[in-house]
Amino acid sequence: MSLEKYRRKRNFTVSPEPSGKIRPIAKAKQPLLYVIQKHRASQLHYDFRLELNGVLLSWAIPKGPSLDPSVKRLAMQVEDHPREYGSFEGVIPEGEYGGGTVMLWDTGTWTPETEGPESTLKKGDLKFTLHGKKLRGSWALVRTKGYGSRADKSWLLIKHRDKFASTKDITATRPRSVVSHKLLADIAREGGGDIEKAATGDPQTPKAKRVTPSRKKSKETKSK
Ligand code: MN
Repeated sequence: MSLEKYRRKRNFTVSPEPSGKIRPIAKAKQPLLYVIQKHRASQLHYDFRLELNGVLLSWAIPKGPSLDPSVKRLAMQVEDHPREYGSFEGVIPEGEYGGGTVMLWDTGTWTPETEGPESTLKKGDLKFTLHGKKLRGSWALVRTKGYGSRADKSWLLIKHRDKFASTKDITATRPRSVVSHKLLADIAREGGGDIEKAATGDPQTPKAKRVTPSRKKSKETKSK
């Protein structure tokens, strides 16, 4: 596990993402970090990250997690990220790697359900428990047959049957940041990002509610 790939892809003089330079080596048994970042880059996806051996193992999930055990969600493994990345919420400048808006969609800790998660990862079948604000209970990441050069990078995220399983679409019912309670558009606005683009990742409100003709609005204001 190394951050070399992570660093090679990014320009830290332009992007506010952490370079991962300062990584304290935790010797004491600390809870392992779990985080999901909702990321409106060229495509909307959810970055699923589990801390192991000082870095965050990372998967990009296009549709986001599902609480329904009958639904398997494609998770493409990407480069390991520094642990500090787990507290990043903000705007990656357009034109940079992953340019777009990043939201801390869920955070917490995780526990492997088997001894030696490194070996079950290698085998392509990791079973674990999530202790997040949105996602809880037992889950699995299972390597699947992908295609072409990304064949070994394709995994499926699957919810196990337990009391936290549900058919409710949690990406729709809980769209906000667990840290700032903002939507993607709010984060983009405050971080100088592309608000329109970020808003396409937020729940869509009826058009009539959003688009108020400015002329009409000012008239109404005047008449009051
Ligand atoms: Mn991403």
